[in-house]
This record gives sequence, structure tokens and C-alpha cells, in this order.
Amino acid sequence: MEDVLILHAESHVLMNHEQLQISEIYDSIQGESSWAGWPCTFIRLTGCPLRCRWCDTAHAFKGGETLSVSEILDRVRALSPRLVELTGGEPLAQEGVLPLMHALASDGYELLMETGGSLSLKQVPDFVNVVMDLKCPDSGMSEHNCYDNIRYLKKTDEVKFVIASEQDFLWAFDKVREYKLSSLCKVLMSPAWGLVSPEDLVRWMLESGVQAKLNLQLHKFIWHPRKKGV
Ligand code: SF4
Repeated sequence: MEDVLILHAESHVLMNHEQLQISEIYDSIQGESSWAGWPCTFIRLTGCPLRCRWCDTAHAFKGGETLSVSEILDRVRALSPRLVELTGGEPLAQEGVLPLMHALASDGYELLMETGGSLSLKQVPDFVNVVMDLKCPDSGMSEHNCYDNIRYLKKTDEVKFVIASEQDFLWAFDKVREYKLSSLCKVLMSPAWGLVSPEDLVRWMLESGVQAKLNLQLHKFIWHPRKKGV
């Protein structure tokens, strides 16, 4: 029993010394997904293997600061939300995100993770609520979708399609049917800002009967659409 305790203590120390490259940590209102509207702390990890044409977080591709898990925890604890989102960039591109997830969960935080859908979900613990993109053709990145991830989706997870044209919508509609996504988890459809109007997307959703939920980026209605850190 004592050995187990020592091992556990050592692994905790290792976890807290894991380093991550972090673009920003801030509190705001969750703007997307079924969690929209809840106060949330965002941990934005630096770097992404994709380059979506309509990406609105290109500032996270480079830079930021190197922080240990315990330094990140200190910053999260200094803010009030009990909901924490790991986002990017691409959170799964850094190995340190896994110990960070465990450390945040041990602290009692409810966790969300937004991922671009090109990297495996296999290692992601069940206590993380995953919001996974399936990239539509107009993003320029659809060949990078990791469809194997679909088998790891839980009822509490969400798949998000960012729709930049009617062709994107028809492609997404086909994917929802092909993979029976609505029976696996929630499905979100989000109009790409400035490329598709919410009205058009709603019309396509109603005409097609797709089993999906409209996802508007709340923060872009509250603040200026290009404002960072909100
Ligand atoms: S996956 Fe996300 S962060 Fe990466 S390029 Fe696409 S929109 Fe930007």
C-alpha cells in the first residue's frame, strides 16, 4: 500500500513538471457548443498542424509562453469559472495536455476540449467533454479528418461542422448520415463567420431535416468579431 502511495506521489510530481506551450489563459463566456453561455476559463495551447482557410485563431500558431502543469493550474485557480476549456491551436498536438487534463480534473474542474479532428482521441480520458470538428471541404483541410475518432465519441461529446458554403452543408449532411453521428453524440452546424449567413444555414437545416443543432459563436455577437481573448 505504501509503495502504491509513493508511486502515486511521484507520478503527481512528474505531471506537475510537464511543460506546455500556452498561447493564452483567460476567462470569458463559453461562446460555442451546448455549453454556450457558461462562464469558462480558456486554456489556448500554441500550435496547430492544420491551416483552415477561415481560421480565426491564427495568432495561436506560434509564440506564447512555456508553462508547467502546476503553473497553468495556478492561473486557472486565480479565475472563478469551474468550467475549463482546452483549445488552440490544437490541444492534442502537445503530449503535456494529457497530464494537464488529469490535474484539472483532480482539482474538480469540468473539462471541455475543442479539437480540429485530425489527431487521435484514443488517449483522451472519459471525463473530458470533447467538441470535435469534422473539417468540411471549403476549409481546405478535409483530407486530414481522422474518421477513426468516431468510435471514441461519447454521448456527452459533440461533433461540429463549420459550414462555409452550401456545398459544405451538403457534404456535412452526408457525413451525419454515413456515420449515424446523431445517434452517437450531439451534432453542431456552425456558419463560417462572414461566409455563410445564419439564415441560409437554418434554411438548409430545415429543408434537409438534418439531425443537428445550430451553433452560433456567441462571443462574436457580444464583442467585435475579431477581438481576441474573449
Ligand atoms: S484546426 Fe482550428 S486552430 Fe487549427 S487551423 Fe483549423 S481553425 Fe485554426
